[in-house]
Amino acid sequence: MAETIVMKFGGTSVAAPEDIKRAARRIVDARELGKQVVAVLSARGKTTDDLVAQAFEISERPLAREMDMLLSTGERISCALCAMAIHDMGHNAISLTGSQAGIVTDSSHTRARIIEVRGDRIREGLGADRIVLVAGFQGVSGDSRDVTTLGRGGSDTTAIAIAAALGADLCEIYTDVAGVFSADPRIVPGARKLPHLSFDEMLEMSSSGAGVLQLRAVEYARNHAIRIHCRSSFDDHPGTLVLAEDETMERPMVTAVTHAYEARVTLTGLRDEPGVAGRVFGALADANVNVDMIIQNEPVSVDQKADLSFTVASEDLGAATDVLAPLEVGEAIETDPRVGKVSIVGAGMRSHPGVAARVFSTLGENQINIEMISTSPIKISCVIAAGQVPDAVRVIHEAFDLGAEAVREEDPSGEHRPRVTS
Ligand code: ADP
Ligand code: ASP
Ligand code: MG
Repeated sequence: MAETIVMKFGGTSVAAPEDIKRAARRIVDARELGKQVVAVLSARGKTTDDLVAQAFEISERPLAREMDMLLSTGERISCALCAMAIHDMGHNAISLTGSQAGIVTDSSHTRARIIEVRGDRIREGLGADRIVLVAGFQGVSGDSRDVTTLGRGGSDTTAIAIAAALGADLCEIYTDVAGVFSADPRIVPGARKLPHLSFDEMLEMSSSGAGVLQLRAVEYARNHAIRIHCRSSFDDHPGTLVLAEDETMERPMVTAVTHAYEARVTLTGLRDEPGVAGRVFGALADANVNVDMIIQNEPVSVDQKADLSFTVASEDLGAATDVLAPLEVGEAIETDPRVGKVSIVGAGMRSHPGVAARVFSTLGENQINIEMISTSPIKISCVIAAGQVPDAVRVIHEAFDLGAEAVREEDPSGEHRPRVTS
């Protein structure tokens, strides 16, 4: 049987008519090499942002079910247009919505999780010698049969889930950058393209803000052993392979610097007694609010009260304060709608002490105040003022010599040299 390949094209890769035609060309090229092709497409350019803005022009708190009806249209447009382009190139293509493709999810609107990929119509299409285009970022609730969406960046997850369902062991993610870099290349132009990364490193990168691959997509890929090739849709150069860590893999101390923006909630004057944190975080979990960093101080003297701070995704701030207010566990709830977070990730950190100290002193030397800290075996994150994020990313990237220039000197093999054009 012919090899099956799943190719995903992000928003920038299908923005203008010529972009859709370029994506169609690439899909057709793969088909002409004898492969069975499934392509997952995102909404064109800023379409999803525009649709979100349209909802808020109408309503302050748009219904989540209707939000999903609205947002899922963007990816359908891309697929229908791309199918037309493929037909014009002399090939047979069929576009499918997430629901038609059998992407079954739970019912949590705007952040649904994939439960099952039935994929009957995908297989049927491939069997009939067609190229199958699937609208990314959406599915259908197995319970309510309503349309759901998978959270921002969710087309990545659609693609990986389809690759897993079809038994493919590789999924190609075509995007507007050449791969996964040592920092967001929009902030650090000298960032280095990483030839390969382990799932664990990519998980930490995605969870700390590297939006180039959606966190759930990386989790899904790791759980189903699907290698990811993240690469540019604008040229043919190889990008970054994300795969299971093996013995031969180079483990740099620090691989990348990532950044994100979140909201912070501080509960002041908390009663210092057992069960308070359980009630606070239990209520947040019931409201489906994911908590990222947490800091609680222990009161110094007996009659003093504790303060508890934590960060959540900005869009969850309203829900968080709504559920905490009635609990009455403390004196006040303070919020900061936008704080910055800068993190460093590296599998080699496990065996190199002193990384955290270097991060803290680098930030300090650059007058960047650290407000919260959290660590995992392969990540260190600091909450800082939102306005200082770009500087923080640049100085840490520099302090750990992560740039292409530094690598050029240290890497006599030349393997990691950036392409130099004279
Ligand atoms: P797509 O629409 O193709 O899904 P995204 O906007 O979701 O594209 O992801 C690509 C963007 O991710 C890049 O344009 C880049 O600015 C950003 N990004 C953030 N961190 C990184 C990183 N470490 N490496 C590469 N890109 C990154
Ligand atoms: N269009 C959706 C978004 O902008 C999903 C995606 O692009 O992956 O988040
Ligand atoms: Mg994306």
